[in-house]
Amino acid sequence: MENCLFCKIVAGEIPSNKVYEDELVLAFRDIAPQAPTHILVIPKAHIGSVAQITPENSGIVAHIFQVIAKVAEAEGLQNGYRVVSNCGDDAGQTVHHLHFHILGGKKLALEMA
Ligand code: 5GP
Ligand code: ZN
Repeated sequence: MENCLFCKIVAGEIPSNKVYEDELVLAFRDIAPQAPTHILVIPKAHIGSVAQITPENSGIVAHIFQVIAKVAEAEGLQNGYRVVSNCGDDAGQTVHHLHFHILGGKKLALEMA
């Protein structure tokens, strides 16, 4: 996908601080962390957002959540963490390539909106 920041990170055209990679998924540290641990987990194949998940591509989401559990454990987040995916303008999505934020390492605020 041209001009997609996260596709460029997958392609290695933009550097990232990787914490996990396999053939389907990449996890890397957020450039502007909102918590002591702030990692983004993305499918390597371009999906625009949660709104573009279909019966054909939804298998990657199950895999991503297995990766999230593995990464969180490796990062020492046994005390808990939050998984967030912003979808669309009202949620403040800024990068239009599906991604799940892993936030942890402190007691997180409870506000959801
Ligand atoms: P969104 O706002 O779309 O849910 O999340 C996009 C996230 O991507 C933000 O937390 C932002 O800090 C992060 N981000 C934007 N550009 C880059 C980049 O070039 N590298 C990394 N590692 N993270 C980025
Ligand atoms: Zn993309």
